[in-house]
Amino acid sequence: MKVEADLDLCQGHAMCSMEAPDVFTVPRHGTVEILLADVPDDLRGDVENAVRYCPTRALRIIED
Ligand code: SF4
Repeated sequence: MKVEADLDLCQGHAMCSMEAPDVFTVPRHGTVEILLADVPDDLRGDVENAVRYCPTRALRIIED
């Protein structure tokens, strides 16, 4: 699976990096950066939580 961020929607709340710190990082005054282009299976749950809790719904999972 892959995960994609819509940077027009992202407001840097950093919920995603709390849920899945191996996959997302958010600079203090910026938008999300995706650290892993391909998400390993053992991080799927973390990424699903990040998508669910992103307040602006900026994240989207893309199944392979
Ligand atoms: S939780 Fe959503 S709005 Fe916040 S940094 Fe992550 S992608 Fe952006």
